[in-house]
Amino acid sequence: MKSIALSLVFALGSAVPVFAQQMLRAGHGSITLSVTPQIDEFAFGKDRVLLQAVSSDGSELYEIHQDAGDLLALRQFRKCLRSSARIPHDFQNGKPSVIKMSWDGASTQISIDGGDSAIFDLSQIDEFGKMSPFVNTTQDPAFTFDGVTFADSSDAAESGRDAAFVQLTPCPDRAGLFKTAPQEKFRGIALQNFPDEKSRAIVKKYIALLPDAVAAAIGRVIMVESNRYAAAMWRGQADFPHKAILLQQDSLRDPAVFFHESAHMFDYAGKIKNGVWFSEKWKKQFTDKEKNPAPAAMADATVLGVFDASSAAEELADFTGNSYAAYLDHHPFRIEGADEKLAFIMRSGFMNRDIYVKINRGGQ
Ligand SMILES: [Zn+2]
Repeated sequence: MKSIALSLVFALGSAVPVFAQQMLRAGHGSITLSVTPQIDEFAFGKDRVLLQAVSSDGSELYEIHQDAGDLLALRQFRKCLRSSARIPHDFQNGKPSVIKMSWDGASTQISIDGGDSAIFDLSQIDEFGKMSPFVNTTQDPAFTFDGVTFADSSDAAESGRDAAFVQLTPCPDRAGLFKTAPQEKFRGIALQNFPDEKSRAIVKKYIALLPDAVAAAIGRVIMVESNRYAAAMWRGQADFPHKAILLQQDSLRDPAVFFHESAHMFDYAGKIKNGVWFSEKWKKQFTDKEKNPAPAAMADATVLGVFDASSAAEELADFTGNSYAAYLDHHPFRIEGADEKLAFIMRSGFMNRDIYVKINRGGQ
């Protein structure tokens, strides 16, 4: 359940002008970087993007992050595939380490100081286009760089498993999905790519519960066939540029998914209209003062190359989704601290008062 706002924006230093001498080769090649940590403690603190690079032909993206005791490595390639791995480091202050990332076909590997290679897992992501080639290394004073080099040689050899994954995972044609003709409109929301009337009826039942302003924030709901994003890990998406909610077919039965994404759409509409995300207010009211602060934006979210608005936006969307689901399932809704949050989403306009009242009474 992610929101697509932007990707690939990192606070990194200036690009290293290496392309004049060397090619960063997609498909078969390697990057080697030599780094020296300048800090003692890695267990806590932020995710650091040590390196971000795009191949000379603009088709592949590589990232290496330091996340606590691990390195996270990522490669995006073949228009809609991502491979990622986690490998423990043993960084010590002042001690140089050599990190090498290699790729061959669909397989990728990373090693530190010539040690064992981590195995990368493959997944499917939204299609991405050509990128501008560049190489950036972090300007974070916690690390100094002794060098970044590229080679046409690779330690990796494409595995049968990874080659088979590519065969079985065609790119999803996201643009084609948006071009599907609206099958009907309900409360001004176009319904697209639904398999049948029955499935549209389920979503219309959900839409009927929304306040006018939330319905107005949604331009369309598009059903996604289960084989289109074969290896995707999301169940629903809020696509702000398209004013669209994408729903995997399987998530139709779980109302929390639709209302989670609706909450993202309305959160974004609030940002456009008022200049402030509702989730910023939510964060001020709840997250900041709670004893257990929300986890910092997950490193995995960063390594996934997707900016997921914030953990507060996810909390707000989750809470809203679960509240509606509780209403529809006739479940009593008695979560500790929920009263104030429920009042927040009602007052902010995420939920009509009559539904709020019924949830407070313990069901529909
Ligand atoms: Zn979400």
